[in-house]
Amino acid sequence: MLPRVVVLAGGVGGSKFSLGVRAALTRRADAEAAASAITIVVNTGDDLWLSGVRLQPDVDSIVYALAGVNDTERGWGRAGDSERVNHELQEWGAGWPWFTLGDLDLGTHLARTGWLRDGLTPTEVIGRMEQRWPLGARLLPMTDAEVDTVVTVSDAGAERPLHFQEWWTRYRASLTPVRFENPGIAAAAPAPGVLDAIAGADVVLIAPSNPVVSIGPILAVPGIRDALRAAPGTVVGVSPIIGGRIVRGMADVCLAAIGVETSSAAVAGHYGARTADGLLDAWVMAEEDAAAAGDVDRLGIRSVVAPLWMRDTGASAALVEAALGAAGR
Ligand code: GDP
Ligand code: CA
Repeated sequence: MLPRVVVLAGGVGGSKFSLGVRAALTRRADAEAAASAITIVVNTGDDLWLSGVRLQPDVDSIVYALAGVNDTERGWGRAGDSERVNHELQEWGAGWPWFTLGDLDLGTHLARTGWLRDGLTPTEVIGRMEQRWPLGARLLPMTDAEVDTVVTVSDAGAERPLHFQEWWTRYRASLTPVRFENPGIAAAAPAPGVLDAIAGADVVLIAPSNPVVSIGPILAVPGIRDALRAAPGTVVGVSPIIGGRIVRGMADVCLAAIGVETSSAAVAGHYGARTADGLLDAWVMAEEDAAAAGDVDRLGIRSVVAPLWMRDTGASAALVEAALGAAGR
């Protein structure tokens, strides 16, 4: 019997990890059994409205990766995409000049927006996408509510709010963040199926995604944190930090804003031990950070040292096996 696995995931790191989860479980049984054993809960705090369409960057990163249509070289969007519509939008002065929308990608956003306008929920929209592209896993948004992340930055001594995507893409996280908020999240509910999946999981894996702006919003949806704390399965986190550095992206700036050092042990401490009001039973950390394993154990979190570079799906699957091993599975 395959373990029932729930993955909490952001976009790029989350999709590489999700490919590893699917590969590891498929190797143990078959694709069909793996598909019914895996639930991925994805961050929707990156979402935005732009030029009249709804974008869900982390959802799409995972959908495109699991469907095998993602651009592996660039790291985001569709393979072989073009930018004719984007060029036309720029000529109109529509949208954001620093935010590129590929033509194929826009097809996704138009389809999604149409379905939302027809009254489908974001959960149901993903279900429609799966009719075209079977994903080999169940994919759920963290919530059906719109809770786009707002970053309050300190700019020339004054505070001002920016949409997360403007801060991340336009300013490359160069404006000092003061706080991250998801307006409306206190009234948001987990998407249908999320709490049941956590309660029914043998293992919950926290992907090596950005702890602040990818995993943070998922944990901020009322009920999800409590469900993890009460989960009968084992909660295993995987470090997004290797050798005291973030692998790619600007997660270090996000961590600094919430007062967490960019180290594997500090991120483990940020999630905390389940025995001490936190979330983790075990933490998978890199060989490069092995010297800090004792610090993690002292927090009440079982440390497991493993290779953490997800250079291809085989490497991601080996990492997932280490995480499942940490859960005794
Ligand atoms: P985003 O939503 O596209 O920003 O992606 P995620 O939040 O899912 O993941 C971003 C994080 O993934 C970064 O902070 C990186 O530290 C981490 N990451 C990327 N590649 C790897 C890898 O190969 N191994 C590990 N352990 N972490 C990675
Ligand atoms: Ca993201």
